[in-house]
Amino acid sequence: MSNDRLIDLYPKVSAKRVLDAIGGKRKTITLTGQRIDITYQPSNLGQGEVPFFICPVCDKPRREMYLKSCEWLCYKCHDFTYHSQQRTRNSYWYWVRRAEKEARKIDLDFRIKGFNDFMNHRWLFPYKAKYMQQRKYDNIRFWYGIYMFRAGEELYNLMAPARAFIQSVKKEYPNYSKTNRMT
Ligand SMILES: [Zn+2]
Repeated sequence: MSNDRLIDLYPKVSAKRVLDAIGGKRKTITLTGQRIDITYQPSNLGQGEVPFFICPVCDKPRREMYLKSCEWLCYKCHDFTYHSQQRTRNSYWYWVRRAEKEARKIDLDFRIKGFNDFMNHRWLFPYKAKYMQQRKYDNIRFWYGIYMFRAGEELYNLMAPARAFIQSVKKEYPNYSKTNRMT
């Protein structure tokens, strides 16, 4: 897989950040000379609206736009890949992204932003939309749970060397964790 598809390599602009900075609603915005439409969708937190860019190629609402070859497009239309998805299935972020993808079937705006969100993932799972069938909702939540569990397992495995290290140091220096600095 060639490396120039890595999403991290390209400048990114977030619709929310830009519009927060400008203040007020906008129908379009200009990013380095390219005009991009803006749309608003109700926030999944039930508070106000969240701005999205409309990608000029696929016409879909997107949280972020990326600059490549002097053109702002969404990650899909640039055909980007995430670093973590290029890695093997035994990576924490790979499974978090898989879980995220499930939740986005319900809420386009869904995102796990970091470790805290991961720890709270059960409570962050989106509410069922009225039109959605209970069975479909339950199925999505089921796989979301499984992927999050696998992410947790990876994290747990990652911690193994750290646990071993701490155990060995504790044996040698039992007072380390209780030692207070006096000077
Ligand atoms: Zn697009």
